[in-house]
Amino acid sequence: MSKRKLRVRFAPSPTGPLHIGGVRTALYNYLFAKKNNGELILRIEDTDSQRFVPGAEEYIIESFQWLGITFDEGPREGGAYGPYRQSERKSLYKPYVDYLLEKGLAYIAFDTPEQLEAKRNEIPNFQYDATSRLSMVNSLTLPKEEVQARINSGRQYVVRIKIEPGQNITVNDLIRGEVTVNSSVLDDKVLYKSSDNLPTYHLANIVDDRLMAITHVIRGEEWLPSAPLHVTLYRYFGWEDTMPAFAHLPLLLKPDGNGKLSKRDGDRLGFPVFPLQWTDPATGTVSTGYREQGYVPDALINFLGLLGWNPGDDREIFSPDELIRLFSLERCSKSGAKFDYRKGEWFNHQYIQLKSGEEIARLFLPVLQEKGVEAPPDKVAKIVGLVKERVNFIHELWNQSAFFFVAPAIYDEKTVKKRWKEDSSEKMQELLTVLQEIDDFSIHSTEATVMSWIESNAYPTGNIMNAFRLALVGESKGPHIFDIVEVLGKEEVISRLKKAIAELR
Ligand code: GLU
Repeated sequence: MSKRKLRVRFAPSPTGPLHIGGVRTALYNYLFAKKNNGELILRIEDTDSQRFVPGAEEYIIESFQWLGITFDEGPREGGAYGPYRQSERKSLYKPYVDYLLEKGLAYIAFDTPEQLEAKRNEIPNFQYDATSRLSMVNSLTLPKEEVQARINSGRQYVVRIKIEPGQNITVNDLIRGEVTVNSSVLDDKVLYKSSDNLPTYHLANIVDDRLMAITHVIRGEEWLPSAPLHVTLYRYFGWEDTMPAFAHLPLLLKPDGNGKLSKRDGDRLGFPVFPLQWTDPATGTVSTGYREQGYVPDALINFLGLLGWNPGDDREIFSPDELIRLFSLERCSKSGAKFDYRKGEWFNHQYIQLKSGEEIARLFLPVLQEKGVEAPPDKVAKIVGLVKERVNFIHELWNQSAFFFVAPAIYDEKTVKKRWKEDSSEKMQELLTVLQEIDDFSIHSTEATVMSWIESNAYPTGNIMNAFRLALVGESKGPHIFDIVEVLGKEEVISRLKKAIAELR
């Protein structure tokens, strides 16, 4: 067999917003493809019209655009293996269903929902399989002519796979090793429904992986139970030679306690579980997203990259390119990954520190506009450079830097009590005169002059600085005081001092 080009796919069903676990799955497919010079395909699995949600596909695409995860083929990108929406491939699946019927590897079943319900009530843990299929209404129990007559008269039916019981089915998983199950535990899954003339997920998924020449199926652990059925379908079709290798990624777990991460955990603990904000078209409910929370795309990628994979040492900061270079399925873990959202915030903090003041200023601009503040870009860049180490998110910059843009309207009461001493007004009046004498308001110049004034008078430095800060900032926070002085400039510093002296006297 000649070596096939490595091809992987991300195959979401557009049934709602993409969950953060889905983003992780797509990311690992992307890293694996890029690392191995392969191709990544986006395939929209929209055969279940009842679960289709308008806007979901657009949402998925926008999410990946934001994150910088690109596809080589897909509904927008096109490609030689399209169309890439299963709803546009409808006519393609029927011959595969017919093939299985012809070979006796599948059969037609007419059981109505009521009949199935009755069976479930009658037999505990009822399963449509080798033990029960001969007591059901299907082409194995009805005469041939009767089956044809029912189809001709327009009776709805489904096609079910005929699972041979008592066989060992082995899934070769690149992360989990060999996973063997006995076919007797499997049921005769529905592969096709006459009602909408469409295959179900299982059949469409297998047929498309084959037709799109997929070599590796990398997906979430929740699909592992379906894998034996998929392996069986490959066998039934005689496609063992092109059967993709499987890799089932570990579950994302709750940050606290046990079990699978859910939307409710996000609501409960206050973190997003979706990449972008999502408005439910049915209820109008708005769920926040990582983008709206102020995440840097590369920080989210770094965070997700380490949820189920590790580089083998304790380095933690990896750019997307480094992740591509280092990624391997061998280093993916079997056990679930705790979704430590605080770690996500830490990553965002790290990525903000790596950005230049100019870049952060650009990201901060919308917040400033919202606050009605206008300031020259180089000034904003300088300010964010002074306070960025105090924030995890861009929007938090406002809290840390508002005093640079607007003079304090009030002075924090506690700070005043503690830091504006009896003689503070007098001292600040003196400081005002000292500052008025200085022309060069750069940090070194003001710092040197003010410090020598303090020294020559043997004033307590702490008291002076505390009062000065209170006058400029309105409370006791902020970066180095002479940094603030430099940014504010002479006029503003003098005016703030005057105001504080007048009001706090
Ligand atoms: N459509 C499935 C999903 O929504 C695809 C599962 C798979 O990758 O095989 O996740």
